Formats: sequence, C-alpha cells, structure tokens
Amino acid sequence: MCGIVGYIGNKDAYPILINGLKKLEYRGYDSSGIMLYDKKASVKKAKGKVSDLEVLYKNGKEQKGCIGIGHTRWATHGPPNKINSHPHLSNSGDLSLIHNGIIENYDALKAILSKKGYLFKSETDSEVLVNLIEEVKKTKKVKLGKAVLLALKQVVGAYAIVVFDSTNPTEIVTAKLGSPLAIGVGDSEYYIGSDPSPFLEFTKRCIYLNDHEMAIISLKKGLTLREIKKDSIIDPYIENLKHNIEEVEKGGYAHFMLKEIFEQPQSIKDTFRGRLLSQSLPIKISSIEEHFNKFKSATRIIFISCGTSWHASLLGEYFFEELLRIPVEVEYASEFRYRNPIINKGDIVIPISQSGETADTLAAVKMAKKRGAFLYGICNVVGSSIARETDTGIYTHAGSEIGVASTKAFSCQISLLLLMALDIGNRMNTIEEKRYKRVLKELSNLPETIEKVLSSAKKAESIANKFLKASNFLYLGRGYNFPIALEGALKLKEISYIHAEGYPAAEMKHGPIALIDKNMPVVVIATKKGNYQKVVSNIMEIKAREAEVIAIVSEGDKEIEVIADHFIEIPECDELIAPILANIPLQLLSYYIADKKGCDVDQPRNLAKSVTVE
Ligand code: GLU
Repeated sequence: MCGIVGYIGNKDAYPILINGLKKLEYRGYDSSGIMLYDKKASVKKAKGKVSDLEVLYKNGKEQKGCIGIGHTRWATHGPPNKINSHPHLSNSGDLSLIHNGIIENYDALKAILSKKGYLFKSETDSEVLVNLIEEVKKTKKVKLGKAVLLALKQVVGAYAIVVFDSTNPTEIVTAKLGSPLAIGVGDSEYYIGSDPSPFLEFTKRCIYLNDHEMAIISLKKGLTLREIKKDSIIDPYIENLKHNIEEVEKGGYAHFMLKEIFEQPQSIKDTFRGRLLSQSLPIKISSIEEHFNKFKSATRIIFISCGTSWHASLLGEYFFEELLRIPVEVEYASEFRYRNPIINKGDIVIPISQSGETADTLAAVKMAKKRGAFLYGICNVVGSSIARETDTGIYTHAGSEIGVASTKAFSCQISLLLLMALDIGNRMNTIEEKRYKRVLKELSNLPETIEKVLSSAKKAESIANKFLKASNFLYLGRGYNFPIALEGALKLKEISYIHAEGYPAAEMKHGPIALIDKNMPVVVIATKKGNYQKVVSNIMEIKAREAEVIAIVSEGDKEIEVIADHFIEIPECDELIAPILANIPLQLLSYYIADKKGCDVDQPRNLAKSVTVE
C-alpha cells in the first residue's frame, strides 16, 4: 500500500511533502521518510506516524530545497522501522527511491547484486530496486530515465516508484505497474502522489500514469511520458479534476470515520443523483441502458471483491438473484485469480472496490477480461485502475473516504446494487410492478430515512460504554441481514481489535453456540419481515445461555424489546432496504467502542485503506 509524494519546481518542497504525506497516511502509517535536495540530498526517516517524522524537522519553515520525495509506509518486506522505511538510497548515495508495491523477484536480484559487491542496509525489496537501477546506470552508462526503464524490465511484481539522482538534480523519474500514481501539472512545476490529494490545493490538472508507463520530469525539458515495454514516447492525457479540497478535511468531527458515517445521507444522494430522478420516473443508469442486452442474455453474474466490498457483493447476490433471477456467484478476488475459475462468454463479472486499486481485484479483472467475460466495474474513485480496466461500470460517488474502515462507501455500494437490481429486474420483467414501485419509493426516501437512523447515535454510544471490556462478539443475521452481520463484525474487529464473528443466525447452532455464555455479547439484526420469528427464536436460544443481546429492531417492535438487553430501532421498511439501514447502528457501535477504548479509529494498526499489494 504506502503513500508516495514528490515535488519538483521552484517552491519549498518540504511543506508540500509533509502535508501530502498526512493526506496519504490512510494508505499506510507504520513509518515515513522524506528526501529533500538542497545542494545535496538529505534523508530523514521515522518509525510511526507522519507526525513523528515532522518532529525531526524542528522548524519546517527553514527547510530548503525545491525537489523532494516522501513516503508513508505499510510494510510488506521487513518490519516497520527506521532502516526499512523509505526513501532508500543506492550504495553510492546518489540515487534515492520511494516505492509502493512488491518486487516479487527481489531475492534473486539481491543475490546477483550482492555478488557484484552491493551491500543492503534494509530488509526491503525496494532497496534492491534502487541498487538495480544504479547498477544498470553504471554498467550501461545511461541517464537515470533509461536506467529506470532497463531495470524495470528485469523486475517481476508491482510498483509505483519515484527516483531521484543527485548527480543530475533537475529531474525526477517515476514509473507505474499495478500501484497507482498521479502527477499534478502546475506552471513549471510538478507534483506526484499516490492519489491527487497532496496536490489538489495547487493544481487540478492531473496525469494518471497507466501500467507500464513512466514519466521523466525535468525542470529544463518538462514532462516526457514513455511506454516501458516498447520504449516509445506517448502523449500525456491531462485530466481536469473536479475533486473538492474540503472533502479531505475532518470538518469538526473527532474522526474521519465519524464524519463519514454522518455524511451517508449526502453520499447516498450523490450516488442516486441523475440515476434515481423520482419515484415515478424510470431509473436511469446509462451503463445499464447501453449494455442491457448483456444483462438480458447473461447466463451468470460473478461478483469479485475483497473485504468490505466482498460483503457488499454478497448482498448484491441476494438482491440480484431475487430481482433478476440470474444465477450469481460471489468470489474473493484473491481466490478467484489463482484458482483457474470457469469463465464463459455469457458471464458478467462485476468487480467492486472502493479505491478501484485493490491489487487482487484488479488482477482478477485482468484475468476475467482475458477469458472473455464482460466486465462491469463498481468503484468509488473516479479514474481508478479498475474503472479503467473494465468494459463499463458505475461510480458510487460516495466522496473521498479517508477513515480506513469503510462506512459510507459500503452504504453507497449496497444502495447502488439495489438500484441496479431494481432497474435491470424491471427491464427484464422479473420483478412485480407493485414491489418495484414500493422499493423505489423507499430508495428515493433513503437519505432522509438514514438521517433518522443517525439520530440514534447517542443510544449506540451509551450501549458501547457497556462493552469496552468484551473480548469477543458474535453478530447474527438472516437473509438480507446476514451480509450485514458479517460487515458489522468486520468493522468491530478492524477498529477496536475485539474479536468478532459474523454468522447466519441459523448456523449458530452448528458451532458458535458452544462459545455463548455471559461473557459473549451477541448482536442480532432482527428487523421485521423476512424471517423475523425465526430470529426471535434464535434470540431466545442465546438468552437461555445468558449472553447479553444487542438487537437491531424495527421501530415499535415490542416482542424483542422485552427479551433483548439492549436494542436500537430503525424505521420499519421493506426487507430489501433493511440491511442498508441496519448497518448504520452497527457502524456507530463499532466506532464508539473503539474510540472509548482509546483505539486509533481512523488508522487502525496493521491496516491500510487501499490494498494495492496482494
Ligand atoms: N515493499 C515495500 C516495503 O515493504 C513497499 C510496501 C508497500 O507498498 O506497501 O517497504
């Protein structure tokens, strides 16, 4: 994962780099480092957060240098410590490099370089790469750009790199394969970022590097873009970004996660904008309109994704099979890509990824494409790799999500999946008119309904207070609420480090019930409709074993309110809408438990937002 930044121009680079790293910290935050060039290259690194690095630059204002690179790390090779953090220097000290990704054949390359006398200080794959570039540059007697190009031809793996050579301090070289890289184009100055957030306040003109592309950015000659495999020059495509800088600020909330939870009504409005015009007008999703025949003739739909997006996919399966009557499979991208799956011509593969950069999902997309599937991507980040690799698709438009634990992006994914299923089902006549209209009406009121659910935040907070010492939780749900039980458990694990399992409520008897006692709180999603009475029986079974039950119930439910220890109400709604609403109190519960335990909610240990390594 990792966040990388760079600057070359006529301004002081330090504030741009340090602030850029703070914006990218969601991508990795176990250590960080900066190389600044002012007559000579100077590197500072620190274990921990970017704020720990900042302390080393006592007076940031006095930092000179108009060229620099910076990195915030999520370790893959070697523990998070000062030595392993980036930038890495080559043996001569001339080259410095930052890297996001994994060099898979680093061991073999390291052995070759070691035989030639190279010494390595760190355990990283990245330090091998900077020395490989140095070796090529020396032996082939070429400039940095050519050396990077030739070295990368020997590399197996994924990378976004930025390299600087202090013997020619007027240029930096950057290249991409697999990991994301954006270049901000200013007036005689260039910015580099893993995403555009480090340079949005300076320029909205952006070049997204494609795989197998590199850019040589020179103060004298400007930017030259090259295709690495063919070694040919290509014309850069400069996009005008529409991102909003306020989106990346906390706006008065204690954490990004809390802000993002409360942003959900607006995010869902944005997701539906132009698509769900009113409850009496047909849904308008242009990518479905255009490719409706593909859906009509599809023999199978396969969702591929990871983590929270996998939970969205699972709910997508429930929605699509119910409303489209097309067989659906849900796959973990990491399994799918390596298990030689059967993909037929009539299959539609739907990758779902918030960042659009998830390494395993991206690789699975490429594999499915090669095997002839039609690819329909669902991503949040506009212009991301998955959005570009797929045949068509739809953006969730949730807005920037900074909190590492996904909240609003997930809500937008599942709301969009329901909207899509309604639209396709209606076009295919596989959904009853009355039901279509009812669900559409509830969907168009969804932002207001979510607003109402959010008003129960205080209740979630007071329940959270009672469970700060719990070390295990069980989350149960049936039908459409089952994927939400999984997501609720994942959210708690991610940010509070409390072990939690999500289970289909009826499966409880096939194992987890053995764990239930008074020390195992059980969260049960028990909304009306669906299998309500069956869930009530499950709650009775839990209570008979003395566990405390936290139930998410429909407004006015008198039956469960008597038997559960704690309950949070959500408005009564169609069973297709219930999972979208029920998820929100679970987000709040996790948030408050984690915050009250003193956990780092926005940047939980060992995690990173955008998993760009497999
Ligand atoms: N492989 C590099 C390291 O361990 C970069 C890690 C990453 O991009 O997440 O330092």
